[in-house]
Amino acid sequence: MPRRRRFLSIFSATLASTLVLNACGNAPDRGGLADGASSNSTAAAKLETRSITLGYVPILEAAALVAGVEQGFFAKHGLEVTLAKQASWPDASENVVIGSAGGGIDGGQWQLPMPHLITEGLITNGKKVPMYVLAQLSSQGNGIAVSNSLKEANLRVNLTPAAAIILGFPKTDGRKFRAAHTFANANQDLWIRYWLGAGGIDPDKDIELLTVPSTETLQGMRNGSMEAFSTGDPWPFRIVADNIGYIAALTAEIWPVHPEEFLAVRADWVDKHPQATIALLKGLIEAQQWADKPENKMALAQMLSSRAYFNTPVSVLEPALKAQYKLGADLKTSNDPKLGPLYWNSDRGVISYPYKSLNLWFLVESIRWKFHPGQLDTIAQAKALVDKVVREDLWRQAAIEVGVPAADIPSGSSRGKETFFDGIVFDPENPQAYLDSLKIKR
Ligand code: CA
Repeated sequence: MPRRRRFLSIFSATLASTLVLNACGNAPDRGGLADGASSNSTAAAKLETRSITLGYVPILEAAALVAGVEQGFFAKHGLEVTLAKQASWPDASENVVIGSAGGGIDGGQWQLPMPHLITEGLITNGKKVPMYVLAQLSSQGNGIAVSNSLKEANLRVNLTPAAAIILGFPKTDGRKFRAAHTFANANQDLWIRYWLGAGGIDPDKDIELLTVPSTETLQGMRNGSMEAFSTGDPWPFRIVADNIGYIAALTAEIWPVHPEEFLAVRADWVDKHPQATIALLKGLIEAQQWADKPENKMALAQMLSSRAYFNTPVSVLEPALKAQYKLGADLKTSNDPKLGPLYWNSDRGVISYPYKSLNLWFLVESIRWKFHPGQLDTIAQAKALVDKVVREDLWRQAAIEVGVPAADIPSGSSRGKETFFDGIVFDPENPQAYLDSLKIKR
């Protein structure tokens, strides 16, 4: 949709320049910065380019990118970020292969391990486009929604009590239980696979697991042709608001403070524009800090709500941002901000840092399910790919320049051991032990 993209480009670029003033005027809680808010033109003078085009998908994972443009954080560091809405994840992949020079994008928001797979040409018809993962955009804020046809079963994060119902589908319903995600072999597919596997259900054998666009899934759940859907907010919220289904599990319940979506940019763009990359990261870090503050959630909801971005009511976005969930078939109220989308802070430290250990999990999971046989089979291959793609060094430089306290900047590549709700541990020092501990795998 080149016309749509063009419209968005103009819209965003204009906003980026007018909002510089806004950022100068308000300058809320941004002390100790290397670049003053008024030094936009000085900042720009140092950059190899003044602009970048980033793709995004209208789910809460994109919130910090939108805040970065709308609050003038990128512009403050001399960079005009154009956000181009992507109709789907395959569209985003195609557009990054084209690049902005050809009317596509330079990078943007990705589920993992898409940047790694694009680097190896595994989801781009063999076309290898090396990419760098620069930052984590968000944690949590995703969920698994289940149709109201399974209200009585009240599926929750621990599926074991309801496994017999799911496994019995062919007998009672004449077909297997159907579940969907919006893109294969990445986050949402991995979350629902983990959930099913932990409950003793083999996602490849016991059910039908499909790739379906969000809107069609909503329809499928409404007309009874689909039971479960794994996706990012605000979709699970919509399902509850429309009384089609309920939230069975938050991804925050499956794996607290799990890595969600990431910022990744074409390696050739980053290599050619190192200072502009640092400016991009500085703006993003400030935008993530801003987006995480409770007092900014309403403003963020209003920003995302606009037709130019999500085109979704504030009444759906605001509770999603504030983690005001209704969980399970009994719609139990939950108001724990620790379960909601996180952009900057957590009890596991800074969200934004692109830990290699967290990137590695996605590739280990790819090995678990044999997503790319003959191409990605070993932990050694996975580690080599992570080393090639993840640029913790650039993040660290940007964080220092933008005044992140030294104590908040991770010193190494590992966040340490990760524990899932079912007690399974992913130790990045020993991924094989993790694979060995899983009962259901290929
Ligand atoms: Ca997601």
